[in-house]
Amino acid sequence: MTKFDVERVRADFPILQQEVNGHPLVYLDNAATTQKPEAVIQAIADYYRHDNSNVHRGAHALSDRATEKFEGARTKVAAFINAPSSAQVLWTRGTTEGINMVAATWGRQNLKAGDRVLVSALEHHSNIVPWQMIAGAVGATVEAIPVDGDGTLNLTEFRQMLDPRVKMVSLQHVSNALGTIHPIDDVIAMAHAVGAKVLIDGAQAISHWAVDVQALDCDFYAFSAHKLFGPTGLGVLYGKRELLDAMPPYQGGGEMIETVSFAGTTFNQLPYKFEAGTPDIAGAVGLGAAIDYLNALDRRGASAHEHALLKYAEDKARAMPGITLVGTSPYKTSVMSFMVDGAHPADVGTILDQQGVAVRTGNHCAQPIMDQYGIPGTVRASFSFYNTFADVDRLFAALTKAQQFLL
Ligand code: PMP
Repeated sequence: MTKFDVERVRADFPILQQEVNGHPLVYLDNAATTQKPEAVIQAIADYYRHDNSNVHRGAHALSDRATEKFEGARTKVAAFINAPSSAQVLWTRGTTEGINMVAATWGRQNLKAGDRVLVSALEHHSNIVPWQMIAGAVGATVEAIPVDGDGTLNLTEFRQMLDPRVKMVSLQHVSNALGTIHPIDDVIAMAHAVGAKVLIDGAQAISHWAVDVQALDCDFYAFSAHKLFGPTGLGVLYGKRELLDAMPPYQGGGEMIETVSFAGTTFNQLPYKFEAGTPDIAGAVGLGAAIDYLNALDRRGASAHEHALLKYAEDKARAMPGITLVGTSPYKTSVMSFMVDGAHPADVGTILDQQGVAVRTGNHCAQPIMDQYGIPGTVRASFSFYNTFADVDRLFAALTKAQQFLL
């Protein structure tokens, strides 16, 4: 169906070559976390075997090598997202910490009583709760931009919500719960027109296509390494330089200072001002290897393959009695959320797992949208470029068994 050589790519991912519950693994939980190619696993192991040391200490050869690899990874990330400088690439623990960092530092400095923060009704909890925390502390409000029944952001209502009291619009690029791709170009331009800043939660977009933060003109962009075929425990926050320069530090400690005395402390320059303590050096090395891997991959072919998988799966779902798709926006990435009519999503997930098919079930950390739809959650199959059409066939064969067993 596509020219993308999925069998060759699958060979790069050792975890896929196993049986689970007596069946060859079909991994369809890529929105939760992606699998790691051998090159990433090897880079992390090599780092610990040969270079492990603390960074920025410069006293010996290992420290120099570790620093070079660590900062080299930052440079790779900057090029990958087209950031103007690697000083604007901050290491975090993940998307969640990136958003918390902006809410706690930029928010503390810029939000006041009566100000408004807009997020979408479809956000992940990590893009709701940090804003509620800072809004509660300063007397601002957090309001939800409505989302239509098919999961599409309602731009008309968004336009009506905008006024000069809106100081921040914090929006996901892609929904983890439904797969909707939001019109963030329009959102960013509209928000900027009233003077608001825009944070994009890129957790679900970054693995699917090339993100260019300068072309987007977003003020902040956050993502997690583990959703980009890299290790857990690491993330990236990109920010515009003037904003990062003006923001106070997030945590205090080593690395983030210039001078410390009991008379007062001065802070380090970007990016170190936001990186207190020993960072996740091996994680950064792993992410650098993931980016190298992706740069060598036919990414357009990969995206087209993922899209073809989604279409194939959605067509099958529509043709199958007793399956209801949730989130049918025309603008979607390779996430298929659905209900098996009459069955609880968790029970469906268990029966799929027994057949070696890994999906996620539940509210996907997006409880408000599930409440809007009046459902406890969904079954979510999320595809990556290493999935095959045969994987989709296995999913539907397993669903047929689930229906026979549960209904
Ligand atoms: N936002 C979205 C859209 C996500 O899908 C996720 C992860 N499910 C997060 C934020 C949080 O990412 P992390 O747990 O890696 O911090």
